[in-house]
Amino acid sequence: MTSDGQVAALSEFEIIRRYFTRRAHGAVLGVGDDAAIVRARRGWELVVTTDMLVAGRHFRADADPEKLGHKALAVNLSDLAAMGATPRWATLALALPRADARWLAAFSRGFMRLARRHGVDLIGGDTTRGPLNITVQAMGEVPAGAALRRDGARVGDDIWVSGALGDAALALSARRLSLTRGERARAGERLDVPTPRIALGEGLRGVARSAIDVSDGLIADLGHICERSRVASVVDLNRIPASAVVKRHLQRAAARQALLAGGDDYELVFTAGRARRAAIRRLSRRLRLKLTLIGSITRRRGSGTPVTVLDPAGRPIVTGRKGYEHF
Ligand code: ADP
Ligand code: MG
Repeated sequence: MTSDGQVAALSEFEIIRRYFTRRAHGAVLGVGDDAAIVRARRGWELVVTTDMLVAGRHFRADADPEKLGHKALAVNLSDLAAMGATPRWATLALALPRADARWLAAFSRGFMRLARRHGVDLIGGDTTRGPLNITVQAMGEVPAGAALRRDGARVGDDIWVSGALGDAALALSARRLSLTRGERARAGERLDVPTPRIALGEGLRGVARSAIDVSDGLIADLGHICERSRVASVVDLNRIPASAVVKRHLQRAAARQALLAGGDDYELVFTAGRARRAAIRRLSRRLRLKLTLIGSITRRRGSGTPVTVLDPAGRPIVTGRKGYEHF
């Protein structure tokens, strides 16, 4: 780092030492050298992902720093989960407008707690002064050839989704929908403190044919699987698992929009052959995680929309926005 990039008050060095240096149990070399060293297990592949959180774009600058620390790592671990990978290591590149000890303590607490829960070592990063930006890279391992990719879906596959959808997006339109305080709090937790479905991703190795995490909305993300796999899909609206809050407001367009196109839930959508139904139901019981069959993969017809949603009468519904896209 250059000296003009130094964060005042607490020095850059002091910030790294105090808040981001922990013993790396599962790395050859962690924080403190020019680079970290890791060793993947023999017969396993390294899975690498990066996600950036930008103030004003992905969160408000005054957002709770402990929740931000959690979320910055969680969205990356969710990508590893969607690949069926076991998380091992992470790096953290942080631009901070000022060196605020209280903010840093809370941020690192949120980050480190989630890291510990999943046995992830923070092995490096970068710290500089600048507009608040949090960029995490996460690395995990998967047995060679066993990763859950977007391009593995086949015609006839079942389509499954974990947990419930719509909460996070509902939290964003909480005011418009006049949610109760309790509803707002519950939906807000799903938005601010997402749970990466790590154990599910690991359990789906050798079971699912394709997977993706729902970060842009069900229609958009299932659409990604369809595009990459060169297939289409049909989903039943009334089978999509809605949270209690979303269910209660389902007559409102904003709630249906949250269910179909709301992002940030970080549930997994995956496809699997029909012969896997029993195995998936067993996995659901073992993980105590709801897994719901919502539709099936179909043949692709021309350049039509890859995701068709049917209403309870079996009529295709117009789904409007595909999901949240930045550009
Ligand atoms: P360099 O000048 O070689 O890039 P730095 O001074 O930027 O080194 O970083 C020193 C050490 O601290 C490196 O091991 C780097 O990976 C680590 N590091 C810097 N910032 C962070 C951070 N926010 N979280 C974790 N490790 C960090
Ligand atoms: Mg550096």
